[in-house]
Amino acid sequence: MEKIQILDKRFKLFIKNSDLMTAVDYVAQKLNSDYASCDEPPIMLCILNGSLMFTSEVMQRIDFDTELATMKVSSYSGTKSNGKLEVIMAPTSDVKGRDVIIVEDIVDTGLTIFETKKELYRLGAHEVKVCTMLYKPEKFEACKEQAYKENGEEYIEPEYVAMEIPNDFIVGFGLDYDNLGRNYKDIYVLDE
Ligand code: 5GP
Ligand code: MG
Repeated sequence: MEKIQILDKRFKLFIKNSDLMTAVDYVAQKLNSDYASCDEPPIMLCILNGSLMFTSEVMQRIDFDTELATMKVSSYSGTKSNGKLEVIMAPTSDVKGRDVIIVEDIVDTGLTIFETKKELYRLGAHEVKVCTMLYKPEKFEACKEQAYKENGEEYIEPEYVAMEIPNDFIVGFGLDYDNLGRNYKDIYVLDE
């Protein structure tokens, strides 16, 4: 489908599923080479709900031993970029002493992965890396600078990125608009 309508908004085709799958191949290959010789199976931590479909695709391409876990978080910016994380569902595996790969749908401001990483280290994780389907580098860099200036926080770029995209609002392949649109196999961008 070239165009879709969700509630009051119109979206147009942005990334075809076949292109997305090529990007997933690439990111899974990188994980396979980096984790080939790890001593203990890392935990692949799917951040619900957005990352469900991406995690499934990555998992099917992984050829090292790995444990699948899920976690649900919600982040919001308070006043003066004082980001907060609400843990709606704690990780389903004990992360203490473990290597964890956060599997996210999209990294936008970077707040969610920053706070989620902090929480995982607080729970005793040994090393936490981030694998994301989509990444908005322009937004991330701006927010990274601001977080450092205002709070001395050091945002780290996601280590594994399937695709970089500009600062537009997108839906599909797990990503929602008001909880709808996650079901589409292609990715759509707001059509204005
Ligand atoms: P961040 O904390 O990096 O700003 O954003 C992370 C969360 O915001 C993502 O996990 C996702 O839920 C939501 N988000 C950011 N950009 C988009 C977008 O373009 N479309 C949708 N549907 N959600 C987004
Ligand atoms: Mg998300």
